[in-house]
Amino acid sequence: MKRRELFQTLAAATAGATLLGRGALEPQDLKSGGSGGGIFSVRVRRLELRHLWTTTMSSSAYRDTLHVQYSRDGITGYGEGAGIVRYQQSALGGQKALESVQLLIASADPWRFEKLLADLDRRLPGQRAALAAVDLALMDWMGKKLGVPIYRYFGLDPADAAVTTMSIGIDTPEVTRQKVREAADFPFLKIKVGLASDEATLDAVRSVTKKPLRVDANEGWTNKEEAVRKINWLESQGVELIEQPLPARMVEETRWIRSRVHIPIFADEACHSAAEIPELREAYDGIVIKLDKSGGILEAHRQITVAKALGMKTMIGCMVSSSCTVTAAAHLSPLVDYADLDGHLLIANDPFSGVRVEKGKLILPNASGLGIRLVKD
Ligand code: MG
Repeated sequence: MKRRELFQTLAAATAGATLLGRGALEPQDLKSGGSGGGIFSVRVRRLELRHLWTTTMSSSAYRDTLHVQYSRDGITGYGEGAGIVRYQQSALGGQKALESVQLLIASADPWRFEKLLADLDRRLPGQRAALAAVDLALMDWMGKKLGVPIYRYFGLDPADAAVTTMSIGIDTPEVTRQKVREAADFPFLKIKVGLASDEATLDAVRSVTKKPLRVDANEGWTNKEEAVRKINWLESQGVELIEQPLPARMVEETRWIRSRVHIPIFADEACHSAAEIPELREAYDGIVIKLDKSGGILEAHRQITVAKALGMKTMIGCMVSSSCTVTAAAHLSPLVDYADLDGHLLIANDPFSGVRVEKGKLILPNASGLGIRLVKD
């Protein structure tokens, strides 16, 4: 096929695709992987939250997430990416970024997903959530094509899937108590703190339950002495670990805190890639992995591997997302020490069904790829 004809075929295959990425195409990108090209599409979905969701970073009644589909050979893979406000990522910005490489993705060989995703990572700096959407769609497609669930592709036992916490966002004591009662089925809760109301929040939680708690300060404290005092008080309240007590940049201060408290400290906002993990070892006991932060399943798996090799603990978490992202993360959960995969439980209009949660235990779907099903288009 001549180059011009190939472009015409690809343009036809990528219905609705813009040709913004055309100038960046390389001949090796145009090699067809199998019969014909793929179709890649991207859209934004609005996920309505059950409760107003507040952390130290934002407060909202809904979240817009990026949804992609990759179809080839009669098989469709689904992916999702939730842009992270802290990194100036929006769903619309992610959509524009992916539209600029739509043709490249549609025309690339999906079996060379490592190369394709590494190329997209270079082309889309700062767009890890958008990259995650592509990674998920390719992994879903690949698993369906092979006829294996993602957990099996990684050699994992679904019976080892983790028990997830249920997150309680920052709210008034009255609403906090109501949320804790609604989470009665979960053996562990994750409490968002990091504001002046922390003690009132914990008091409200403890007036309802004695369950073990995990706490996330989302970089909310900036004074290391105060952080030590708060963490030691939290420990006395039955808190078993703390996420990101200080801003990510305060690594040395976090190391100082670590030597003065007894519960493990986890890096979330401080950890984005496998390459950063060795530098965090002195300041943190563990890392929080999220697909939207890592750029997808493959980099998340690398981060888990590196952290474990360094003797660090691992937690897999998520943003507010549909069952698409949460199920994808749940496939890796047999590898981690802790899971915080409740993003889909926080929304009222989940477009997918996938992982189920029974008394906190993640039940992985026994279907190929991510094992999710589109229930609301
Ligand atoms: Mg966190």
